[in-house]
Amino acid sequence: MTAYDPNNIFAKILRGEIPCKKVYEDEFALAFDDINPQAPVHVLVIPKGAYVSMDDFTKNATMDEIGGFFRAVGTVARRLNLAQPGYRFLANHGAHAHQEVFHFHVHIFGGRDLGGMIRR
Ligand code: AMP
Repeated sequence: MTAYDPNNIFAKILRGEIPCKKVYEDEFALAFDDINPQAPVHVLVIPKGAYVSMDDFTKNATMDEIGGFFRAVGTVARRLNLAQPGYRFLANHGAHAHQEVFHFHVHIFGGRDLGGMIRR
C-alpha cells in the first residue's frame, strides 16, 4: 500500500492551507464541493484521519472513525436535500478505479437523474 503523503491536496485542505467550498464539518469528516463537478451536486466527503484509500480506511480506522464518517456522508446528503429523489456515492480505490488523490474520500453526486451504473 502507498504510504500516506501528508502533503496531498486534501490534507492541505484539512489543515486550512488551501481553500475549499465547505458544505459540512464535524469531528470525523469534512465535506466540500468538488472542483470539477460531474453533476449539479458533486461533493467530496473526507475523514479527518490520515488514510490513503477505502482499503486503508476500512482496515485501519477505528470503529468510531468509520461510523462517524459514514454517518457524516448520510448527513451531508440529507442536508443537501438529496435523500429524495436520490443520489449516488462512490469511492475510487487504487489504479483500476483511477484514484487521483490519496486521502480517502467519498464522492456524492446528485441534482439530476444520474442514469444507470457507469460503464466504459
Ligand atoms: P478521485 O479520482 O476519486 O481520487 O477523485 C479526486 C477528485 O478530487 C476529483 O473529482 C477532483 O476534481 C477533485 N479535486 C482535486 N483537487 C481538488 C480541490 N482542490 N478541491 C476540490 N476538489 C478537488
